[in-house]
Amino acid sequence: MSEKVPPAPGLRIGCGADVHPLAAGRRLVLGGIAIAHERGLSGHSDADVLAHAICDALLGALGDPDMGARFPDTDEAHRGRSSLEFLREVMRDVRARGYAIVNLDAVVLAEAPRLQPHLEAMRAALAEALGCPAASVGVKAKRCEGIGAIGRKEGIAAQAVVLIGPAAPARGAAVGARAARRKPRPARRKGRA
Ligand SMILES: [Zn+2]
Repeated sequence: MSEKVPPAPGLRIGCGADVHPLAAGRRLVLGGIAIAHERGLSGHSDADVLAHAICDALLGALGDPDMGARFPDTDEAHRGRSSLEFLREVMRDVRARGYAIVNLDAVVLAEAPRLQPHLEAMRAALAEALGCPAASVGVKAKRCEGIGAIGRKEGIAAQAVVLIGPAAPARGAAVGARAARRKPRPARRKGRA
């Protein structure tokens, strides 16, 4: 399960899911955006359940162990940390192995607060952290209609799926490769103008 992905790129898909309980006296952060609410998600970091689901999806696409192994909550360095930093760190791995995000789609399951007004800001913040266009990042919000723990507002959950593929070669590299493939021009014949 934890063998490193060989640097022979193709498309790879990953999925991630996460749940955090809601607690008093905590800031609610979703997709890197602080949202005014009477309670926030509890956890070791900022408990950004959406960023965590995306992080796990990326790690899954790479074939790496999940967030719990990568950023253990026993590590004091991660206390109160912004989860966008986890995303930035994982994206460095994605790029180092020759991949880029094709697109990702995520859904936040929350009974309250209403997330619709914040979705665009979340997409922009996530895209910035991931270093990809906002058009490649989908974020949806779904209520649970009062059903189950999420419906009773005991917590918030998120699910994400991400597709990664070979990163386009840098511009200069592409031009260089094309130049290397080009056949040498035949020498101009002399005489006969
Ligand atoms: Zn989490």
